[in-house]
Amino acid sequence: MYIDGKALATQVRDEIKQTIDKRIAEGKARPGLATVLIGENPASQTYVSAKRKACAEVGIESFAHELPASTSQAEVEALVRQLNENPTVHGILVQLPLPDHLNEKAILDLISIEKDVDGFHPLNMGLLAMKGRKPHFVACTPQGVMEMLKSTNTPLEGARAVVLGRSNIVGIPMALLLINANATVTVAHSRTKNLPEVCREADVLIAAVGRAQMVKGDWVKPGAVVIDVGTNRVDDASKKSGFRLVGDVDTEAAAQVASAISPVPGGVGPMTIAMLLKNTLKAAEASE
Ligand code: NDP
Repeated sequence: MYIDGKALATQVRDEIKQTIDKRIAEGKARPGLATVLIGENPASQTYVSAKRKACAEVGIESFAHELPASTSQAEVEALVRQLNENPTVHGILVQLPLPDHLNEKAILDLISIEKDVDGFHPLNMGLLAMKGRKPHFVACTPQGVMEMLKSTNTPLEGARAVVLGRSNIVGIPMALLLINANATVTVAHSRTKNLPEVCREADVLIAAVGRAQMVKGDWVKPGAVVIDVGTNRVDDASKKSGFRLVGDVDTEAAAQVASAISPVPGGVGPMTIAMLLKNTLKAAEASE
């Protein structure tokens, strides 16, 4: 079975739109998201415009800040401070990666944790890692994966979960969410030995490595649920763009073995954007 992330995201977005319409009818503030895009990375431009379009569709106001690659650290920091103070801005998203001369850590650290809708602030990450504590926001991609697992009624309590990848934005928060859901979690990475064997232990396998179709069909335990976060461009002369997107999993082969698997595209990607909208609405609600 394929997990239709696009359909699930549409459902989430419809619910968000209804909630926002109701808020507006009640005279409450329209949720607002500031997007900060620095430089001209084409992939970042595509992501930011998709996020802004999604905001418009559900009734979130987006405030676009597009700055040249030459923008200084002080200028970016001044902008983030100003957005932190602006009451019509409920969420702040600084699109990564930043140009090399900018200090990413210092900029992310500056975002108010109440407006950190990407969930990348170290305090929000730390709160997610601590027992009995709750972050203001959880990173959108792993949060979207959890929604996908929920939609398939995948049992997580006591399940063996393997997360491939340990990045701050996907692998680590993903592993923490699965631990919080009472799964027994293994985090694998580039130094892991016997990777296929480790993956075969997984009842739930999350791939977030950024290596096209690395996970083969025989790495998947029969009946496992596989979520493919990978978004890799591979050359494809038949496409107008000259490339197509593939995941980290050999989807066709793995689908023969798995009980459920998410496709790329149309899997985790749309859910990531839906969770950003959800976090922005949550930020607006929390600000009242
Ligand atoms: P990073 O490059 O930050 O992290 C990749 C992780 O994979 C690292 O932990 C790395 O290990 C591990 N890794 C790399 N190569 C191997 C290997 N050969 N064997 C085992 N582990 C390996 O990537 P991200 O986490 O940012 O993204 C991962 C993928 O997810 C990318 O394809 C990205 O485009 C996609 N993505 C998709 C999103 C969506 O919305 N659909 C959102 C965010 C990301 P080590 O730590 O040892 O270096």
